[in-house]
Amino acid sequence: MIQLDRDDPLADYRDRFVLEEGLIYLNGNSLGALPREARNRAAEVVEQEWGQGLIRSWNRHDWVSLPTRVGDKVAGLIGAAPGEVVVADSTSVNLFKLAAAAIRMRPGRCKIVSEPGNFPTDLYMLQGLEGFLQGEVRLETAPREVLSSHIDEDTALVVLTHVHYKSGELFDMAAITARAHEVGALMLWDLSHSAGAVPVDLNGVGADFAVGCGYKYLNGGPGAPGYLFVARRHLNDIHQPLSGWFGHAEPFAMRDDYQPADSIKRGLCGTPGVLGTAVMEVGVELQASADMSKVRAKSRRLGELFIQLVEAHCEGMGFALASPRDAERRGSQVSFTHQHAYPIMQALIARNIIGDFRAPDILRFGFAPLYVRHVDIWDTVQALADIMATGEWDAPQYKQRSAVT
Ligand SMILES: *Cc1c(COP(=O)(O)O)cnc(C)c1O
Repeated sequence: MIQLDRDDPLADYRDRFVLEEGLIYLNGNSLGALPREARNRAAEVVEQEWGQGLIRSWNRHDWVSLPTRVGDKVAGLIGAAPGEVVVADSTSVNLFKLAAAAIRMRPGRCKIVSEPGNFPTDLYMLQGLEGFLQGEVRLETAPREVLSSHIDEDTALVVLTHVHYKSGELFDMAAITARAHEVGALMLWDLSHSAGAVPVDLNGVGADFAVGCGYKYLNGGPGAPGYLFVARRHLNDIHQPLSGWFGHAEPFAMRDDYQPADSIKRGLCGTPGVLGTAVMEVGVELQASADMSKVRAKSRRLGELFIQLVEAHCEGMGFALASPRDAERRGSQVSFTHQHAYPIMQALIARNIIGDFRAPDILRFGFAPLYVRHVDIWDTVQALADIMATGEWDAPQYKQRSAVT
Protein backbone atom coordinates (compact mmCIF):
# COMPACT_ATOMS: atom_id res chain seq x y z
CA MET A 1 0.00 0.00 0.00
CA ILE A 2 2.78 2.35 0.96
CA GLN A 3 4.45 1.67 -2.36
CA LEU A 4 1.18 2.33 -4.22
CA ASP A 5 0.90 5.68 -2.44
CA ARG A 6 4.51 6.50 -3.30
CA ASP A 7 3.86 5.79 -6.95
CA ASP A 8 0.58 7.73 -6.97
CA PRO A 9 0.87 10.63 -9.43
CA LEU A 10 -1.90 12.47 -7.52
CA ALA A 11 -0.34 12.00 -4.07
CA ASP A 12 0.63 15.67 -3.72
CA TYR A 13 -2.99 16.80 -3.90
CA ARG A 14 -3.77 15.49 -0.43
CA ASP A 15 -1.80 18.27 1.22
CA ARG A 16 -3.93 20.83 -0.48
CA PHE A 17 -6.88 19.80 1.68
CA VAL A 18 -7.56 20.28 5.37
CA LEU A 19 -7.70 16.69 6.67
CA GLU A 20 -7.03 16.05 10.30
CA GLU A 21 -4.32 13.52 11.14
CA GLY A 22 -5.72 10.04 11.68
CA LEU A 23 -9.01 10.71 9.89
CA ILE A 24 -9.99 8.48 6.99
CA TYR A 25 -12.51 10.35 4.91
CA LEU A 26 -14.53 8.17 2.56
CA ASN A 27 -17.46 10.51 2.20
CA GLY A 28 -16.24 12.94 -0.42
CA ASN A 29 -19.11 11.71 -2.58
CA SER A 30 -21.46 13.39 -0.11
CA LEU A 31 -19.52 16.38 1.17
CA GLY A 32 -16.06 16.98 -0.28
CA ALA A 33 -13.15 18.01 1.94
CA LEU A 34 -12.08 21.62 2.46
CA PRO A 35 -9.34 22.83 0.10
CA ARG A 36 -6.80 24.88 2.10
CA GLU A 37 -7.03 27.62 -0.47
CA ALA A 38 -10.82 27.82 -0.01
CA ARG A 39 -10.23 28.89 3.57
CA ASN A 40 -8.14 31.83 2.38
CA ARG A 41 -10.60 32.67 -0.33
CA ALA A 42 -13.51 32.62 2.12
CA ALA A 43 -11.69 35.00 4.45
CA GLU A 44 -10.84 37.29 1.55
CA VAL A 45 -14.31 37.43 0.08
CA VAL A 46 -15.92 37.99 3.47
CA GLU A 47 -13.48 40.49 4.92
CA GLN A 48 -12.29 42.43 1.93
CA GLU A 49 -14.84 42.06 -0.82
CA TRP A 50 -17.88 42.18 1.40
CA GLY A 51 -16.61 43.86 4.55
CA GLN A 52 -14.67 46.65 2.88
CA GLY A 53 -15.83 46.73 -0.71
CA LEU A 54 -19.52 46.42 0.14
CA ILE A 55 -21.81 47.14 -2.82
CA ARG A 56 -18.85 48.32 -4.91
CA SER A 57 -17.61 44.74 -5.12
CA TRP A 58 -20.31 43.78 -7.60
CA ASN A 59 -18.25 45.63 -10.19
CA ARG A 60 -14.86 45.88 -8.56
CA HIS A 61 -14.60 42.15 -7.95
CA ASP A 62 -16.89 41.17 -10.78
CA TRP A 63 -19.34 39.31 -8.58
CA VAL A 64 -21.84 39.53 -11.44
CA SER A 65 -19.73 37.18 -13.56
CA LEU A 66 -19.21 34.53 -10.89
CA PRO A 67 -21.97 32.18 -12.12
CA THR A 68 -20.65 32.09 -15.68
CA ARG A 69 -16.96 32.24 -14.73
CA VAL A 70 -17.22 29.25 -12.43
CA GLY A 71 -19.63 27.66 -14.91
CA ASP A 72 -16.95 27.78 -17.60
CA LYS A 73 -14.55 26.02 -15.24
CA VAL A 74 -17.12 23.31 -14.47
CA ALA A 75 -17.70 22.98 -18.23
CA GLY A 76 -14.13 21.77 -18.65
CA LEU A 77 -14.83 18.88 -16.28
CA ILE A 78 -17.95 17.62 -18.02
CA GLY A 79 -17.18 17.88 -21.71
CA ALA A 80 -19.06 21.13 -22.20
CA ALA A 81 -17.90 24.31 -23.92
CA PRO A 82 -17.53 27.72 -22.30
CA GLY A 83 -20.90 29.46 -22.31
CA GLU A 84 -22.87 26.25 -21.84
CA VAL A 85 -22.74 25.98 -18.04
CA VAL A 86 -23.82 28.31 -15.29
CA VAL A 87 -23.45 27.88 -11.53
CA ALA A 88 -26.58 28.74 -9.57
CA ASP A 89 -29.19 27.64 -7.07
CA SER A 90 -29.30 24.00 -5.98
CA THR A 91 -29.24 20.89 -8.13
CA SER A 92 -32.92 20.33 -7.29
CA VAL A 93 -33.94 23.80 -8.49
CA ASN A 94 -31.80 23.52 -11.63
CA LEU A 95 -33.41 20.21 -12.45
CA PHE A 96 -36.84 21.79 -12.21
CA LYS A 97 -35.85 24.71 -14.43
CA LEU A 98 -34.43 22.52 -17.18
CA ALA A 99 -37.10 19.81 -17.03
CA ALA A 100 -39.79 22.47 -17.37
CA ALA A 101 -37.92 24.11 -20.25
CA ALA A 102 -37.57 20.75 -21.99
CA ILE A 103 -41.29 20.01 -21.68
CA ARG A 104 -42.00 23.30 -23.38
CA MET A 105 -39.75 22.32 -26.25
CA ARG A 106 -41.73 19.12 -26.88
CA PRO A 107 -45.39 20.13 -26.88
CA GLY A 108 -47.85 17.29 -27.22
CA ARG A 109 -45.57 14.72 -25.62
CA CYS A 110 -46.85 13.51 -22.30
CA LYS A 111 -44.05 11.59 -20.57
CA ILE A 112 -40.90 12.16 -18.58
CA VAL A 113 -39.00 8.91 -18.19
CA SER A 114 -36.69 8.15 -15.26
CA GLU A 115 -35.74 5.13 -13.18
CA PRO A 116 -37.18 4.01 -9.85
CA GLY A 117 -34.59 4.45 -7.15
CA ASN A 118 -33.12 7.54 -8.81
CA PHE A 119 -31.87 10.09 -6.26
CA PRO A 120 -35.00 11.13 -4.33
CA THR A 121 -34.86 14.85 -5.04
CA ASP A 122 -34.77 14.17 -8.79
CA LEU A 123 -37.98 12.16 -8.62
CA TYR A 124 -39.59 14.58 -6.16
CA MET A 125 -38.86 17.61 -8.36
CA LEU A 126 -40.29 15.79 -11.38
CA GLN A 127 -43.37 14.88 -9.35
CA GLY A 128 -43.67 18.54 -8.41
CA LEU A 129 -43.52 19.48 -12.07
CA GLU A 130 -46.09 16.83 -12.92
CA GLY A 131 -48.44 18.31 -10.32
CA PHE A 132 -47.76 21.82 -11.52
CA LEU A 133 -48.66 20.80 -15.08
CA GLN A 134 -51.79 19.18 -13.70
CA GLY A 135 -51.24 15.81 -15.25
CA GLU A 136 -50.53 17.09 -18.75
CA VAL A 137 -47.17 15.40 -18.40
CA ARG A 138 -46.59 12.35 -16.26
CA LEU A 139 -43.50 10.82 -14.78
CA GLU A 140 -42.93 7.21 -15.73
CA THR A 141 -40.18 5.22 -14.05
CA ALA A 142 -38.79 2.00 -15.44
CA PRO A 143 -35.91 -0.21 -14.26
CA ARG A 144 -32.64 -0.04 -16.16
CA GLU A 145 -33.07 -3.35 -17.92
CA VAL A 146 -36.26 -2.22 -19.65
CA LEU A 147 -35.73 1.52 -19.70
CA SER A 148 -35.16 1.76 -23.45
CA SER A 149 -38.56 0.33 -24.26
CA HIS A 150 -40.22 3.05 -22.16
CA ILE A 151 -38.53 5.80 -24.14
CA ASP A 152 -40.94 6.29 -27.00
CA GLU A 153 -42.68 8.85 -29.20
CA ASP A 154 -44.72 10.09 -26.22
CA THR A 155 -41.55 10.92 -24.31
CA ALA A 156 -40.60 14.56 -24.03
CA LEU A 157 -37.64 14.08 -21.72
CA VAL A 158 -35.47 11.39 -20.14
CA VAL A 159 -33.93 12.27 -16.75
CA LEU A 160 -31.26 10.02 -15.32
CA THR A 161 -28.39 10.22 -12.86
CA HIS A 162 -25.19 9.16 -14.57
CA VAL A 163 -23.60 7.49 -11.50
CA HIS A 164 -26.17 5.98 -9.15
CA TYR A 165 -25.90 7.43 -5.65
CA LYS A 166 -26.39 4.10 -3.89
CA SER A 167 -24.77 1.48 -6.06
CA GLY A 168 -22.28 3.67 -7.90
CA GLU A 169 -23.41 2.06 -11.16
CA LEU A 170 -22.67 4.06 -14.28
CA PHE A 171 -25.20 4.50 -17.02
CA ASP A 172 -24.06 4.26 -20.62
CA MET A 173 -24.50 7.93 -21.39
CA ALA A 174 -23.92 7.67 -25.13
CA ALA A 175 -26.35 4.79 -25.66
CA ILE A 176 -29.21 6.25 -23.64
CA THR A 177 -28.81 9.73 -25.08
CA ALA A 178 -28.88 8.19 -28.56
CA ARG A 179 -32.01 6.21 -27.65
CA ALA A 180 -33.77 9.37 -26.44
CA HIS A 181 -32.85 11.23 -29.61
CA GLU A 182 -33.94 8.36 -31.83
CA VAL A 183 -37.55 8.97 -30.75
CA GLY A 184 -37.23 12.75 -30.67
CA ALA A 185 -36.99 13.04 -26.87
CA LEU A 186 -34.57 15.27 -24.99
CA MET A 187 -31.98 13.99 -22.50
CA LEU A 188 -31.10 15.49 -19.11
CA TRP A 189 -28.24 14.00 -17.09
CA ASP A 190 -27.68 14.54 -13.38
CA LEU A 191 -23.91 14.57 -12.90
CA SER A 192 -23.85 14.99 -9.12
CA HIS A 193 -21.76 11.84 -8.59
CA SER A 194 -19.82 12.17 -11.84
CA ALA A 195 -18.17 15.57 -12.15
CA GLY A 196 -14.67 15.36 -10.74
CA ALA A 197 -14.87 11.60 -10.32
CA VAL A 198 -15.34 10.09 -13.77
CA PRO A 199 -14.79 11.43 -17.27
CA VAL A 200 -17.92 12.99 -18.72
CA ASP A 201 -18.30 14.10 -22.33
CA LEU A 202 -21.65 15.84 -22.62
CA ASN A 203 -21.05 17.25 -26.07
CA GLY A 204 -19.39 14.06 -27.21
CA VAL A 205 -22.61 12.14 -26.51
CA GLY A 206 -24.83 14.97 -27.73
CA ALA A 207 -26.60 15.50 -24.39
CA ASP A 208 -29.19 18.25 -24.32
CA PHE A 209 -29.18 19.22 -20.66
CA ALA A 210 -27.40 18.42 -17.43
CA VAL A 211 -27.37 19.46 -13.80
CA GLY A 212 -25.02 18.65 -10.94
CA CYS A 213 -23.84 19.35 -7.50
CA GLY A 214 -21.00 21.57 -6.25
CA TYR A 215 -20.34 20.09 -2.82
CA LYS A 216 -19.43 16.48 -3.63
CA TYR A 217 -16.35 15.68 -5.72
CA LEU A 218 -16.00 19.34 -6.68
CA ASN A 219 -15.25 20.22 -3.04
CA GLY A 220 -17.33 23.38 -3.21
CA GLY A 221 -18.36 23.40 0.46
CA PRO A 222 -21.57 22.55 2.33
CA GLY A 223 -24.61 23.66 0.37
CA ALA A 224 -22.44 25.00 -2.47
CA PRO A 225 -24.49 25.99 -5.51
CA GLY A 226 -25.24 23.48 -8.23
CA TYR A 227 -24.78 24.02 -11.95
CA LEU A 228 -26.75 23.54 -15.12
CA PHE A 229 -25.71 22.79 -18.69
CA VAL A 230 -27.61 23.61 -21.84
CA ALA A 231 -26.19 22.47 -25.19
CA ARG A 232 -25.41 25.47 -27.33
CA ARG A 233 -27.91 24.46 -30.02
CA HIS A 234 -30.71 24.87 -27.46
CA LEU A 235 -29.58 28.09 -25.83
CA ASN A 236 -32.07 30.27 -27.60
CA ASP A 237 -34.93 27.79 -27.33
CA ILE A 238 -35.07 27.24 -23.64
CA HIS A 239 -37.59 29.11 -21.57
CA GLN A 240 -37.24 28.15 -17.97
CA PRO A 241 -40.08 29.12 -15.67
CA LEU A 242 -38.06 30.64 -12.80
CA SER A 243 -37.55 33.78 -14.83
CA GLY A 244 -35.93 35.96 -12.22
CA TRP A 245 -34.10 39.19 -12.90
CA PHE A 246 -30.62 37.67 -13.15
CA GLY A 247 -31.79 35.65 -16.16
CA HIS A 248 -33.00 38.83 -17.85
CA ALA A 249 -31.18 40.23 -20.89
CA GLU A 250 -30.60 43.45 -18.95
CA PRO A 251 -31.18 42.92 -15.24
CA PHE A 252 -30.37 46.50 -14.36
CA ALA A 253 -32.58 48.08 -17.00
CA MET A 254 -35.32 47.41 -14.42
CA ARG A 255 -38.03 46.90 -17.02
CA ASP A 256 -41.44 45.41 -16.28
CA ASP A 257 -41.31 42.73 -18.93
CA TYR A 258 -39.13 39.69 -18.82
CA GLN A 259 -36.77 39.27 -21.72
CA PRO A 260 -34.41 36.29 -21.33
CA ALA A 261 -30.69 36.77 -21.81
CA ASP A 262 -29.49 35.32 -25.10
CA SER A 263 -26.89 33.22 -23.31
CA ILE A 264 -26.62 30.58 -20.61
CA LYS A 265 -27.46 33.38 -18.18
CA ARG A 266 -31.11 32.71 -18.90
CA GLY A 267 -30.62 29.70 -16.66
CA LEU A 268 -30.19 32.04 -13.70
CA CYS A 269 -32.99 33.11 -11.42
CA GLY A 270 -32.14 35.58 -8.64
CA THR A 271 -29.04 37.16 -7.13
CA PRO A 272 -26.15 34.67 -7.11
CA GLY A 273 -24.88 33.37 -3.78
CA VAL A 274 -21.55 35.18 -3.88
CA LEU A 275 -19.93 33.58 -0.84
CA GLY A 276 -20.82 30.04 -1.85
CA THR A 277 -19.88 30.49 -5.49
CA ALA A 278 -16.55 32.19 -4.71
CA VAL A 279 -15.55 29.37 -2.36
CA MET A 280 -16.72 26.73 -4.80
CA GLU A 281 -14.50 28.22 -7.49
CA VAL A 282 -11.43 27.10 -5.53
CA GLY A 283 -12.59 23.48 -5.39
CA VAL A 284 -13.48 23.46 -9.07
CA GLU A 285 -10.10 24.91 -10.03
CA LEU A 286 -8.29 22.38 -7.91
CA GLN A 287 -10.20 19.54 -9.52
CA ALA A 288 -9.70 20.99 -12.98
CA SER A 289 -5.93 21.10 -12.44
CA ALA A 290 -5.80 17.31 -12.03
CA ASP A 291 -5.45 15.04 -15.05
CA MET A 292 -8.80 13.23 -15.39
CA SER A 293 -7.24 10.05 -16.78
CA LYS A 294 -5.10 9.82 -13.64
CA VAL A 295 -8.09 10.60 -11.44
CA ARG A 296 -10.09 7.84 -13.08
CA ALA A 297 -7.25 5.34 -12.95
CA LYS A 298 -6.72 5.94 -9.24
CA SER A 299 -10.42 5.81 -8.50
CA ARG A 300 -10.68 2.42 -10.21
CA ARG A 301 -7.66 1.11 -8.38
CA LEU A 302 -8.98 2.24 -4.99
CA GLY A 303 -12.35 0.64 -5.68
CA GLU A 304 -10.86 -2.62 -6.88
CA LEU A 305 -8.55 -2.80 -3.91
CA PHE A 306 -11.39 -2.15 -1.50
CA ILE A 307 -13.62 -4.87 -2.96
CA GLN A 308 -10.78 -7.36 -3.03
CA LEU A 309 -9.78 -6.65 0.60
CA VAL A 310 -13.34 -6.68 1.99
CA GLU A 311 -14.03 -9.99 0.29
CA ALA A 312 -10.77 -11.45 1.59
CA HIS A 313 -10.80 -10.11 5.16
CA CYS A 314 -14.53 -9.97 5.90
CA GLU A 315 -15.54 -13.22 4.28
CA GLY A 316 -18.57 -14.88 5.87
CA MET A 317 -19.41 -11.74 7.87
CA GLY A 318 -22.59 -10.94 5.96
CA PHE A 319 -21.41 -8.30 3.49
CA ALA A 320 -22.59 -8.42 -0.12
CA LEU A 321 -21.26 -6.21 -2.87
CA ALA A 322 -23.94 -3.75 -4.00
CA SER A 323 -21.87 -2.07 -6.72
CA PRO A 324 -20.83 -3.39 -10.12
CA ARG A 325 -17.71 -5.52 -9.81
CA ASP A 326 -16.49 -4.30 -13.17
CA ALA A 327 -14.71 -0.97 -12.61
CA GLU A 328 -15.74 0.12 -16.11
CA ARG A 329 -19.33 0.22 -14.89
CA ARG A 330 -18.67 1.87 -11.54
CA GLY A 331 -18.20 5.48 -10.43
CA SER A 332 -15.86 6.44 -7.59
CA GLN A 333 -17.65 4.61 -4.78
CA VAL A 334 -18.21 1.08 -3.57
CA SER A 335 -21.27 -0.02 -1.61
CA PHE A 336 -21.89 -3.15 0.39
CA THR A 337 -25.15 -4.30 1.89
CA HIS A 338 -25.31 -5.72 5.39
CA GLN A 339 -28.23 -6.53 7.64
CA HIS A 340 -26.67 -4.31 10.34
CA ALA A 341 -25.33 -1.65 8.01
CA TYR A 342 -26.31 1.28 10.22
CA PRO A 343 -24.54 0.32 13.49
CA ILE A 344 -21.55 -1.02 11.58
CA MET A 345 -21.08 2.35 9.90
CA GLN A 346 -21.49 4.11 13.25
CA ALA A 347 -18.78 1.89 14.74
CA LEU A 348 -16.47 2.80 11.84
CA ILE A 349 -17.22 6.48 12.31
CA ALA A 350 -16.39 6.14 16.02
CA ARG A 351 -12.96 4.99 14.85
CA ASN A 352 -12.56 8.09 12.71
CA ILE A 353 -13.32 6.32 9.46
CA ILE A 354 -16.11 8.19 7.77
CA GLY A 355 -18.34 6.62 5.16
CA ASP A 356 -22.11 6.73 5.23
CA PHE A 357 -25.28 4.69 5.41
CA ARG A 358 -28.14 4.75 2.95
CA ALA A 359 -31.45 3.15 3.86
CA PRO A 360 -32.32 0.41 4.08
CA ASP A 361 -29.07 -1.58 4.30
CA ILE A 362 -26.22 0.06 2.39
CA LEU A 363 -22.76 1.00 3.61
CA ARG A 364 -21.33 3.51 1.17
CA PHE A 365 -17.63 4.26 0.73
CA GLY A 366 -16.62 7.11 -1.56
CA PHE A 367 -13.10 7.42 -2.91
CA ALA A 368 -12.23 10.99 -3.79
CA PRO A 369 -9.04 10.37 -5.76
CA LEU A 370 -7.45 13.70 -4.85
CA TYR A 371 -7.12 12.88 -1.17
CA VAL A 372 -7.88 9.22 -0.41
CA ARG A 373 -4.76 7.07 -0.09
CA HIS A 374 -4.29 3.37 -0.73
CA VAL A 375 -3.28 2.94 2.88
CA ASP A 376 -6.68 4.36 3.91
CA ILE A 377 -8.35 1.49 2.06
CA TRP A 378 -6.21 -1.04 3.87
CA ASP A 379 -6.82 0.54 7.29
CA THR A 380 -10.58 0.75 6.68
CA VAL A 381 -10.87 -2.91 5.85
CA GLN A 382 -8.77 -3.92 8.87
CA ALA A 383 -11.04 -1.83 11.11
CA LEU A 384 -14.16 -3.26 9.50
CA ALA A 385 -12.97 -6.82 9.99
CA ASP A 386 -12.11 -6.06 13.61
CA ILE A 387 -15.47 -4.40 14.32
CA MET A 388 -17.21 -7.50 12.99
CA ALA A 389 -14.98 -10.07 14.65
CA THR A 390 -15.23 -8.47 18.10
CA GLY A 391 -18.93 -7.61 17.82
CA GLU A 392 -18.04 -3.98 18.51
CA TRP A 393 -20.79 -2.82 16.14
CA ASP A 394 -23.43 -4.40 18.39
CA ALA A 395 -23.32 -1.68 21.04
CA PRO A 396 -26.40 0.35 21.98
CA GLN A 397 -24.82 3.72 21.19
CA TYR A 398 -24.46 2.75 17.53
CA LYS A 399 -28.17 2.13 17.07
CA GLN A 400 -29.50 5.63 17.67
CA ARG A 401 -30.22 7.20 14.30
CA SER A 402 -29.32 10.82 13.63
CA ALA A 403 -31.31 13.01 11.26
CA VAL A 404 -28.58 12.93 8.61
CA THR A 405 -27.18 9.47 8.00
C1 LIG B 1 -26.48 15.09 -4.10
C2 LIG B 1 -27.46 14.99 -5.21
C3 LIG B 1 -28.39 16.00 -5.42
C4 LIG B 1 -28.45 17.16 -4.48
O1 LIG B 1 -29.45 18.05 -4.73
P1 LIG B 1 -29.55 19.36 -3.83
O2 LIG B 1 -30.55 20.16 -4.49
O3 LIG B 1 -28.18 19.96 -3.76
O4 LIG B 1 -29.94 18.90 -2.46
C5 LIG B 1 -29.25 15.87 -6.50
N1 LIG B 1 -29.19 14.80 -7.31
C6 LIG B 1 -28.29 13.80 -7.12
C7 LIG B 1 -28.24 12.64 -8.04
C8 LIG B 1 -27.41 13.86 -6.05
O5 LIG B 1 -26.55 12.88 -5.84
